[in-house]
Amino acid sequence: MKIAILPGDGIGPEIVTQAVKVLNALGEQFEMETAPVGGAGYEASGHPLPEATLKLAKQADAVLFGAVGDWKYDTLDRPLRPEQAILGLRKNLGLFGNLRPAILYPELANASTLKPEVVSGLDILIVRELTGDIYFGQPRGVRECPDGPFKGQREGFDTMRYAEGEIRRIAHVAFQAAQKRSKRLTSVDKANVLETFQFWKDIVTDVHKEYPDVALDHMYVDNAAMQLVRAPKKFDVIVTGNMFGDILSDQAAMLTGSIGMLPSASLDANNKGLYEPSHGSAPDIAGKGIANPLATILSAAMMLRFSLNKAEQADRIENAVKKVLAQGLRTGDIYEEGTTKVGTEEMGNAVVKALA
Ligand code: NAD
Repeated sequence: MKIAILPGDGIGPEIVTQAVKVLNALGEQFEMETAPVGGAGYEASGHPLPEATLKLAKQADAVLFGAVGDWKYDTLDRPLRPEQAILGLRKNLGLFGNLRPAILYPELANASTLKPEVVSGLDILIVRELTGDIYFGQPRGVRECPDGPFKGQREGFDTMRYAEGEIRRIAHVAFQAAQKRSKRLTSVDKANVLETFQFWKDIVTDVHKEYPDVALDHMYVDNAAMQLVRAPKKFDVIVTGNMFGDILSDQAAMLTGSIGMLPSASLDANNKGLYEPSHGSAPDIAGKGIANPLATILSAAMMLRFSLNKAEQADRIENAVKKVLAQGLRTGDIYEEGTTKVGTEEMGNAVVKALA
């Protein structure tokens, strides 16, 4: 199995090094090849997504990605900015399913802004569709308002749309993810108001026939937003469209209060995926050896589970992370009094040790 390693910029190389170390400690035979991306890609060959990097990502069975971006590139033309590499990879690899777990380890319950009893032990997965919805629907723009009380004035407009195949494929990803967890799936929509999301609901209900072992329920997005704060542990897997998923996944991530802990995956139709921490390249702490590598290490665990079919090894990594937290080891971002502050490398080493 071949893994493309794309460390990127800022803290990217530091945290990816730790994840690679953990992968190497599993006793598996992975072929790993590293290539520059983002600002590093621009420095190496004048483009944030160099051709050779894209070729490697296409050939590989999975991509482990650090983070890209640095303020020093803010003056470049937009197509040359580091962040364009992510969009290019999503487009070229056909990555349409974004998986964002929000997990709050009991040891970090105080990191959340919500009461510990509401969030402690939280473990939910948001599956967000990435390629459709109002973000990409045509037509869109500003035009003359054709009717109603504001007729003749300028109006801004977008088009919300989902093709049946687009809904089916994300529904399959979500049902299969639910099968690997506690077999409960909530589809979030706004079917009471929007035609697109009545259609979404109908198609998800139809796909459900292929997954009788998964319990499906439907929830309006406004209620879902409320329940995520009121009783987030009621959820297991949530599937929703691009815009609702954008908002709800950030909301769910912040329930945990610890950006350095959250992994993510973006999958194609064959479960090939790009795995990355949910945070950015943190230029403010780059090179200091203090970044939290756990989100990247947990992204590697997701890669094993979703793309490389090695669920047991994924469990091993996740359990090792739980163990180091239980030992009281903390990087600066999750440190609290009474725990032991460690750096990036020490944290990586502790996870390797805990694997045993
Ligand atoms: P950021 O996520 O990089 O940092 C936000 C804050 O969180 C900073 O204070 C940072 O030090 C801290 N932080 C982030 N990850 C951490 C970790 N692992 N351990 C400890 N602390 C951590 O967001 P930003 O500052 O808004 O953006 C910085 C750069 O990252 C920008 O160029 C932005 O475009 C880019 N970015 C890239 C991605 C990506 O590569 N997928 C995502 C978001 C932002």
